[in-house]
Amino acid sequence: MCAPNDPKNLSLIYTYIMNIFQRVKQLGFPLGKYVVVGGVMEAYGIRQANDIDIVVANDLFHKLIQNGWVMCDCDACTNSSKKILKGDGVDILSEYSCGEAYKANTEQLIKNADLIDGVPFIGLTELRKWKQVNGREKDLKDIKLIDAYLKIELSGILLVWKILKKKLILAII
Ligand SMILES: [Zn+2]
Repeated sequence: MCAPNDPKNLSLIYTYIMNIFQRVKQLGFPLGKYVVVGGVMEAYGIRQANDIDIVVANDLFHKLIQNGWVMCDCDACTNSSKKILKGDGVDILSEYSCGEAYKANTEQLIKNADLIDGVPFIGLTELRKWKQVNGREKDLKDIKLIDAYLKIELSGILLVWKILKKKLILAII
């Protein structure tokens, strides 16, 4: 875990005046170099995001350091291969892996992202895997929400299929 954010940061204000799409877009990161992995639930309309976490490709990570982003120097980050750059209400991660229990390849995550309103987000099934491994109380709550969302989505698809099938049958006979 990382040290709590500086209380002076603006994340709370950002949360209220901008949605997740605006918050990510204002960073100006190039498409194909990043994927949003925290705050994702808001993009799918499930719940509002608090802090945003973004995994970026290695070259972008180093470019951001050159541009003045500051690396978190808490004990956990110092002792881990996973490095974090701290911004206002946004954490930039060098990788998404969670210890040995969950390994993720950044390039694959970026490639498989869901593009919503021009912003790439990690898919819900991948997010669910990560939350399962993390297993904090809030992760377990989110898993319940994700499952409910996926169930509704599936029944929506089935409903559309039923209507289509009916129309097709009517068109044939
Ligand atoms: Zn840290």
